[in-house]
Amino acid sequence: MYVKVIREGCIGCGQCAEICPQVFCLAADGLARVEQQPESGLDAVVQMAAESCPVSVIEVEDD
Ligand code: SF4
Repeated sequence: MYVKVIREGCIGCGQCAEICPQVFCLAADGLARVEQQPESGLDAVVQMAAESCPVSVIEVEDD
């Protein structure tokens, strides 16, 4: 699984980082970024974070 945040559209709500802090964090500019690509086993929670993003800027690609 490969995940990316389209930062231009992020509104900095912090939801993704709250749901999956292993992968997402809020950068100094207040917008989310991928801190680390997900290890196997995190697929479901990453998917949940992506679906909960209010502006749908988290893209998930399956391997
Ligand atoms: Fe940005 Fe979406 Fe994460 Fe909110 S959930 S911080 S809008 S990427």
